[in-house]
Amino acid sequence: MKHGYFFDMDGVIYNSMPHHAQVWEETMQRHHLHFTAQDCYRNEGRTGFDVIHEVILRDEHREASHEEIARIYAEKTNAFLAMGHPAPIPDIQDVLHYLKNQGHVIWIVTGSGQDSLFETLNKDFPNIFARERMITAYDVTHGKPNPEPYLKAWERSGLQKEDCCVIENAPLGIRAAKAAGLFTIGVNTGVLTRDDLQQAGADIVLDNMEQLLTAIRESRF
Ligand code: MG
Repeated sequence: MKHGYFFDMDGVIYNSMPHHAQVWEETMQRHHLHFTAQDCYRNEGRTGFDVIHEVILRDEHREASHEEIARIYAEKTNAFLAMGHPAPIPDIQDVLHYLKNQGHVIWIVTGSGQDSLFETLNKDFPNIFARERMITAYDVTHGKPNPEPYLKAWERSGLQKEDCCVIENAPLGIRAAKAAGLFTIGVNTGVLTRDDLQQAGADIVLDNMEQLLTAIRESRF
């Protein structure tokens, strides 16, 4: 039976969250704003613009202009790129190859808007992903935690909802997937607690990709 597996990217495919957390904290500090690595994990999935807007409102009680937000976000993005290409999450290769070999359909559903995302993914994971099976920042009006990204992936997949499964690492991503009515597995690859993912509504919470592969092999979903 063919199933659709919808993978988030940051913290699920790539171990990019430590890089994001470090550069967010450093960039905000330079602007005398308070935003810790922990805050970064809690807000994962929100757009950078929304995050900066909210932190300035909270810390300085004012509405930041679009230009100011764009300037800070560009700083953060440049610092992130300077850290180099993040490594894949341990054992994610095995998960992806197993699903591919079983004939399942693999999607990427990410809030990322990198221009060369498909090329990068295809280089690191040859023949796993396809351009037409990706939902990125360019495909949606509202990002996670809005259900739109996952609803779009599901609609385009042509599959029944009960045959789809979302793999997420972040509370807001889990909320988006559950709001879209999809079965959701939280894999806790970051610094949050299992409870954080459970409370966001995950149907199952696992600790790593090795556990995910075992669970898929045993056909628990
Ligand atoms: Mg993520």
